[in-house]
Amino acid sequence: MLNHTFAFLALAVITLCAISVPVAAADAKFGPSNPFYAPSTLPFQAPPFDKIKDEDYQPAIEAGMAEELIEVQAIADNPAAPTFENTLVAMEKTGLLLQRAMAAFGAVTGADTNPLLQKVRTEEAPKLAAHYDAIYLNPRLFARVAAVYKQRDSLQLDGESRRLLEVSYDRFVRSGASLSDADKTELKKLNEEISTLSTAFSTKLLDATKAGAYAASDKSALAGLSDAQIAAAAQAAQSRKQAGYVLPLQNTTQQPDLASLSVRATREAIFEKSWNRTERGDANDTRDTISRLAQLRAQRAQLLGFPNHAAWKLGDQMAKTPEAALKFMDALVPGATAKAEREGKDIQDVIDAQKGGFTLQPWDWNFYSEQVRKVKYDLDEAQVKPYFELNHVLENGVFYAATQLYGITFKERKDIPVYHPDIRVFEVSNADGKPLALFYCDYFKRDNKNGGAWMDSLVGQSKLLGTLPVVFNVANLPKPAAGEPALISFTDVTTMFHEFGHALHGMFANTEYPSLSGTATAADFVEFPSQFNEHWALYPAVFDHYAKHYKTGTPMPAELVAKIRKAENFNQGYKLTELVAAAELDMQWHTLSASAPLQKPDAFEKQALEKTHLLLSTVPPRYRSSYFAHIWGGGYSAGYYAYLWAEMLDDDAYQWFEDNGGLTRANGDRFRQMVLSRGNTEDLGKMYAAWRGREPSVEPMMKDRGLRDSGQ
Ligand SMILES: [Zn+2]
Repeated sequence: MLNHTFAFLALAVITLCAISVPVAAADAKFGPSNPFYAPSTLPFQAPPFDKIKDEDYQPAIEAGMAEELIEVQAIADNPAAPTFENTLVAMEKTGLLLQRAMAAFGAVTGADTNPLLQKVRTEEAPKLAAHYDAIYLNPRLFARVAAVYKQRDSLQLDGESRRLLEVSYDRFVRSGASLSDADKTELKKLNEEISTLSTAFSTKLLDATKAGAYAASDKSALAGLSDAQIAAAAQAAQSRKQAGYVLPLQNTTQQPDLASLSVRATREAIFEKSWNRTERGDANDTRDTISRLAQLRAQRAQLLGFPNHAAWKLGDQMAKTPEAALKFMDALVPGATAKAEREGKDIQDVIDAQKGGFTLQPWDWNFYSEQVRKVKYDLDEAQVKPYFELNHVLENGVFYAATQLYGITFKERKDIPVYHPDIRVFEVSNADGKPLALFYCDYFKRDNKNGGAWMDSLVGQSKLLGTLPVVFNVANLPKPAAGEPALISFTDVTTMFHEFGHALHGMFANTEYPSLSGTATAADFVEFPSQFNEHWALYPAVFDHYAKHYKTGTPMPAELVAKIRKAENFNQGYKLTELVAAAELDMQWHTLSASAPLQKPDAFEKQALEKTHLLLSTVPPRYRSSYFAHIWGGGYSAGYYAYLWAEMLDDDAYQWFEDNGGLTRANGDRFRQMVLSRGNTEDLGKMYAAWRGREPSVEPMMKDRGLRDSGQ
């Protein structure tokens, strides 16, 4: 993941820093004694975490917003005729103080937070949203950008500058800057209604999910769960002041407990709770909300000059059009559903062998597939973990692969201040010894850390600003007792490679303009470098180098390695089918035109799945329309396909490496030069095709998911 946790911080990335002294201090509390007041004097301008106190963030953020508005207004009011230099380049140099404060603030609120920091975050979030509106809806500023954009063909700009002009202009237009005043008023009205309905959806879904919990008075209904799981169910009932046992619902259609619950009636009841949670005709029913939301989004797209919401959203993505995303997904369907059907047959065989006497239903899938998994792939975590000691995986696996590919080297630095003692800092150098970046890793789980894993930047790279990257990885790996080794699972190993792939994208950034640098790319591209880097975890020369027993140093037995490899293909037909079905639903809802009537969600959903050949009785979509939080409550509308799109890219890219000799410096350097260092400085589709020698193909992804062989 890439700082998805911080929609808040992502906003701040729109404009990056410049080296200047603050011109305004809106808050009396903000002055030279604040550690954000001036650029850091530490190596790589690393944040002085030893000097930053919790109370320093808010005054710095507020002063940073005030300063940026003054800087931006000065550009808008410049009496000189608009030029690329005095408008676009000038904008790239604004907001330095805000960026400095927000980068450090994002790091601590995500990974080491406390009530004061949370309070500041809640208070500043709406102010930051308004701040960026004030910039992107500033008519004088937009007029200057538009004037430069109009002359773009006569300006003889270099490629990156031209890209900056196009991306900036496009961002203003997408925000509605080019609309008439009457249309701006209409846009504001639509935005407000959409935002209100989206919040209403989230509230209903939260209530519906809570109300949808499965309750049992008798323990026998929960047969198959472990003692700990049953105790947790009793605890959940108690906290709701109910007798008996409660199993709360998870977001997805399938519920994890269905893999262990042996009473079929319980499984069916839980599945029904999940599937119909938001469709009971009560106050938590979301169906009217989502059909109205789809209609309003289509109307907004029309106002902004697009045929539908998806076209508006995808214009600045790698896929560019909903048609391209749909074509890609259509290509996945036959292989995914055929594999899912074979998996379903295997499961039916198990049911029949046990004289079950029934036909497989969605609520049976995980229970019986778990039995298939045990027979076919059983992988004992306890057997595997001694071969994956955290520091060994990091230095002899993650770093080693990067050294083989890109020639970079790592040296631990104990003198750089950190926000928590668990963090390690490495200085990263190029093959010629020149400094490249600082890399922080913060791997251990803490109660005051958000869940999951992510990468973010403390300092962004820019030649214009003279900055080198400072990036960090965060994860939630179990912290061992003092003196014990940190032994992790293969999933955790993969997470480390994944996040380090994002880190490489940030560290190799070699661009002029900060807003085009590093990971500041489209949502359907940004997971490509990270997912691509995961492939090296199982690459024999890398795997053999790090997968050694922590006590004896012996390599992992071949039989165990084979099991890890084989397990990668398990249940992939089901997993891919449920994902594609959800992504197709998302795209079908968001390609409705403004003139389409209000849809009835159930009929619409059935028709959409039928049309895309995804209406399978045993494989329901990962999210049903009425509880699809990503697209109605989150920022993923018309964007759920992006996960799959990035997977196509990473498998296709890895295929290129396999075809060209694998893990070599020549291959790594070429990839770094043509892709990883380029940020968003070129059209992403063109950048990829130039490196790959052709457009991306979906075939390697099908192969990697095990959808191209006859058996499992
Ligand atoms: Zn990621």
